[in-house]
Order: sequence, then structure tokens, then C-alpha cells
Amino acid sequence: MRVGTGWDIHRLVEGRPLRIGGVTIESDKGALGHSDGDVLLHALIDALLGACALGDIGKHFPPDDENLKGIDSTILLNRVLPLLEGYEIVNIDCTVILEKIRLAPYIDRIRESIASLLSLDISSVSVKAKSAEMMMMEVGTGDALIAQAAVLIEEKDSKEDLYWV
Ligand code: MG
Repeated sequence: MRVGTGWDIHRLVEGRPLRIGGVTIESDKGALGHSDGDVLLHALIDALLGACALGDIGKHFPPDDENLKGIDSTILLNRVLPLLEGYEIVNIDCTVILEKIRLAPYIDRIRESIASLLSLDISSVSVKAKSAEMMMMEVGTGDALIAQAAVLIEEKDSKEDLYWV
């Protein structure tokens, strides 16, 4: 088994859509970014790459790559999944830290979205939302948001090996 963690932060500005975990969230502000700014999928991608010691999202998708401008982050996640060859994802646990936007009504949709993107059962995908309690500078004032992700991956067939030992 191997573990990976990911972390990301994006500024929130008017005139941008807000995407979290592949789900569009109703909000006056959206995440600024070279891609669609999906902070949760970016943290998740970093966690998956980290679990395989394959660097980070910036190494695989350089922010100056014009082809990636405005790209849907679900496409980025789909491009990362083949790199996990030989491993399967056991479970994922994520936290989104943001102010003013209530994520509670969207949590299960975000879990379903990530579960579907990763071909996992929804019981293996945990998504939590947390307020910054008006601290943490821009996050506390609702002008930025943060996501953290942890992932456990397991070598395929490792369970079968155990049965034969
Ligand atoms: Mg990002």
C-alpha cells in the first residue's frame, strides 16, 4: 500500500464559474486559474501523483501550456489515472476549506462525481467542508479556497498474494 497527500489553493474572483470535484457550484465568485480552477480535483491529482512518487500537477500540466487554458480538470484527472498502472485506489478523504459558500448541499454530488471519475464506490470517497472561521487571510474573507486530499492506493493482486502465502 502507498499513501499520497495533496493540497491546493485558488483565489476566488467574480466572473468565473466555481467547480469543486467536477461539480458546478452556484456562487457569485469562481476560482481563478489557468484551468477551470477545480481546487479539489487539483489536490486529488497531487495526492494520486504523490502516492506514486511521480511529482506534482505542475510537472505534468505546466501552467504555461496554452493547450490547457480553461481545461476541465476532470480531463486532467483522466490523464493521470493511467499513471497508476498496477495499483488500485482504496479510499480517498478530502477537505475543502472555504468561507461564505455553503458546500453542504453539494457534498454527496461531489462524492458521486469523484467516485464516478475514479470508478470507485461512493463509500470509498469522503468529502468534508470546513470554514476558516474568518481567519487564514483571503480564505477567511471568502476571497480564496483551499482543498486537501489524502489517498490510499494498493498494488493490484496483493490481496490474492496474501491468500497464497
Ligand atoms: Mg490548482
